[in-house]
Amino acid sequence: MAQLDKNDLVQMNEDYFKSLKKERLVEVAKNLHILATDLWEKEQKNSQNSSQPPSLDNPYSSKQKQKPESFSSESESAEAKTEQKQLNESSEKPEKKKSPRKPGKQPGAKGFGRKQPLKAEAIIPHYPHQCSACNQNLAESENQRYMGHYVLELEPELNGFRIVCQLHHYYRKTCNCGHCTDAKPGEGKVFVVEGRTRDLKLTEYVLVGPTLGTFIASLGVRYRMSRSKIQEFLNDWAQTELSTGTIDRCIREAGIACVPVVEELVEQLQIADILHLDETHWYESGKLHWLWVAVTTKTAVFRIGSRRKEELSYLVKEAFLGWLVTDGYAAYRSHPKRQRCVAHLIRKAVAITGVIDQKAAQIGQWILDDLRELIATIAYKKEDTRLIRKLQVRLRRACHLGKKADHQKLQALAKEIFNDWDAVVAFVYHPELPPTNNEAERALRHAVIARRIGFGTRTSEGSWAYSSLLSVIETCRLREINPWTYIAEVLALARQGLAPPPFPIGS
Ligand SMILES: [Zn+2]
Repeated sequence: MAQLDKNDLVQMNEDYFKSLKKERLVEVAKNLHILATDLWEKEQKNSQNSSQPPSLDNPYSSKQKQKPESFSSESESAEAKTEQKQLNESSEKPEKKKSPRKPGKQPGAKGFGRKQPLKAEAIIPHYPHQCSACNQNLAESENQRYMGHYVLELEPELNGFRIVCQLHHYYRKTCNCGHCTDAKPGEGKVFVVEGRTRDLKLTEYVLVGPTLGTFIASLGVRYRMSRSKIQEFLNDWAQTELSTGTIDRCIREAGIACVPVVEELVEQLQIADILHLDETHWYESGKLHWLWVAVTTKTAVFRIGSRRKEELSYLVKEAFLGWLVTDGYAAYRSHPKRQRCVAHLIRKAVAITGVIDQKAAQIGQWILDDLRELIATIAYKKEDTRLIRKLQVRLRRACHLGKKADHQKLQALAKEIFNDWDAVVAFVYHPELPPTNNEAERALRHAVIARRIGFGTRTSEGSWAYSSLLSVIETCRLREINPWTYIAEVLALARQGLAPPPFPIGS
């Protein structure tokens, strides 16, 4: 017996059931039961009990929160496991049990040393230029070397690049006044994260130079390579041995260095005529967060935070007087000049055209046709005001029918269009406005794929670093400039405690 299909369901209604004899009705009920069971089982599927990828799990469901358990260590005691089992079996929702295991190297685990010692190809001396006490200029002669360290740096060549090992020597000099001055590696800000054993300090006294550090950050963030894949890549292709910890540090450092740049970009958003806004879910240490993006023609700013309105006011300040292009999220509604993304509405209407309730499907088709025709008319026949007026009246009428229909999704769509009418048709009266929010959705694509690979960030610092790097990279792409030379410059200055250079305007 074949399962009921759409055509069968369309033909069934109250009158049909009433017309049936009891034994036939039981048969129909049995068929419907089979279908319902099948659909219910399908709905229960997630990444835990099927081969469905975790990216398709509902971000709001509590099952998502239990995910880290599957990664819990083998060494977890048997008692803890039984306790967890009891919790799972009880009717109450189990609290997420955090593994006591920290990420990274475990205490007592075997360490890895450098297989080959570093060999310097170039020596870079650093002399003190001025007496730190009396400000007198100091000569470079008769200096005494007191410390040195190796730096691996990436050097561009005519057809490519190579990684060189530099030895930085620091000198000390005694002034006529008797004061002794040391040349020292530059130092920048220190970033503290609660519970972290070692704080992140921006300094020049590190193994990886700013250009190589930026290169590593590009592999991690732009090319979405994992820390261990970057390690493998550098080892295989550049004979450069780096630990995954060092690689991770480079990526965070580049991101943190870009934070002050983003503040400048946020200011530049405020003077735009049209600003696209969108958000997608994100995980920070397994908890549900949101990744926001604000895009203009020349600037893009990303931010990871809650879904509250405050996050929005960071991106769109009260001084912003331009147009917002958004989806239907309620936090956007207070802004007076707004274009609602029509593509979102079209997608919802497309879904309704395929439903079993034929009346609802027909009204959905009308809404869909009117929305599409309205966009096409504004694009190609702007001057036909009569047609434009007619289409709007027709769309309103279809929505009016939809509001009164029994089908819930159709009702919701019709109300959505009615309640936000001015924002839905803003592009009709302001042809410079795009009717869709594709710019913002495209800008989020990269991060959505990264989320599917890496499951988000671990700390608020990681979120800041990641969103800042995304902002700088995407803005550079919009302005058609190389993001990496700029980021390397920003990182080099941040390691000396200096402010970033102004963001290039581009072409
Ligand atoms: Zn002096």
